[in-house]
Amino acid sequence: MKILQKTYIIFIILVFLISASSYGQEIVGHDDQITDKLANLDEHGKKLLKEYQQDYLTLNIGKSSSSKKQKFLIPVKAHVVRDSDGHGGLSNNSIQSSLEDLNYIFEDVNVSFYLFDGIEFINDSSLNQIIKGNEGALINDHYEEGVLNIYFTDKILNATNTSICGYNADNLDKNIVILKNSCAVNGSSMAHEIGHFFSLLHTHGNGNNGTEELVDGSNCDTTGDGLCDTPADPGLSYDNVDEDCNYMGDATDANGDYYSPDTGNVMSYSRKSCRDHFSTQQYARMYAYYVMMKDEIFDEFEVSTTTTEGLENVKIYPNPVTDGQIHIQRDEFLNETLQFEVTNLSGQILFKGFSNNDLINVNRLPSGSYFITLSNAETKVTRRFIK
Ligand SMILES: [Zn+2]
Repeated sequence: MKILQKTYIIFIILVFLISASSYGQEIVGHDDQITDKLANLDEHGKKLLKEYQQDYLTLNIGKSSSSKKQKFLIPVKAHVVRDSDGHGGLSNNSIQSSLEDLNYIFEDVNVSFYLFDGIEFINDSSLNQIIKGNEGALINDHYEEGVLNIYFTDKILNATNTSICGYNADNLDKNIVILKNSCAVNGSSMAHEIGHFFSLLHTHGNGNNGTEELVDGSNCDTTGDGLCDTPADPGLSYDNVDEDCNYMGDATDANGDYYSPDTGNVMSYSRKSCRDHFSTQQYARMYAYYVMMKDEIFDEFEVSTTTTEGLENVKIYPNPVTDGQIHIQRDEFLNETLQFEVTNLSGQILFKGFSNNDLINVNRLPSGSYFITLSNAETKVTRRFIK
């Protein structure tokens, strides 16, 4: 009896240790089968998509270093689920920094995601766990037309009850990405889901049982992700990618060639900390899909041909602030969205965001002196103001 009890206690301790260690590593499953958004395109659509992809590559849209850049601004509505009593959920700062991570990955293509109309906090414990396919209760009352809606919740389960990082609910004909809180801040899962939103498949293709893509690239446009600058990927995981992001597998393709996958590709199932880039053709594909679909997806969609000149002449008024808002006055040709940061006199950032209408609400600040830094792609200016 005593031996049995001891064994039982050791068993309990082991279970505790194992679950504690896997919790620490935060290995969460992936988003299963993805709908191929391009599968239903007719011949005309396919041709158009190819043309836009080609535009991206030949016009060098992403890598343009000229001062006149096209900036693609994607409005994001963030919905943060918290407990019914208002506890838990991601903070304003976490949302801002996850958007910064996202913008860093998309910087090369001149795409910028910005918070549209602030963050919606949803205090409802019953929405803290979402089962893929049963997201209706979350979405029905909390959806903004014409923008990309991103929902942040504690836990997401797929149909087989596995915890997953997130998914892109493209079957609903709505613009939706749902993310698990801990994954939203891991630097790559948000970009991964947004890659799906803009039609990208996994680099290992659309199934979960390896790829038919050959290492020599001879069938790269019809297998895997259908793109030829992402090397054949036999399916990556924490088992075959080491902590330094080296591929450790020894799988071979139908020709007997060894795979040499890109363990840093955002659209792979590699370690989440390794994923930090898209390939050029992935960018081109996202651009093409965006250009084709933008009018359907985004009401508030804006493409502005921006002139990134200096901000030297920018003025803020009134100073001291009288109606809780800072007005920005700038040269007319500076028609781009400005990023702003409000800091206290010791340089601590109090809040930041993007200004579309040249008004910044500073109501939340107590009376005192502050700095506001405004920036565009090229320059920054800092002004002192009193509230
Ligand atoms: Zn995925």
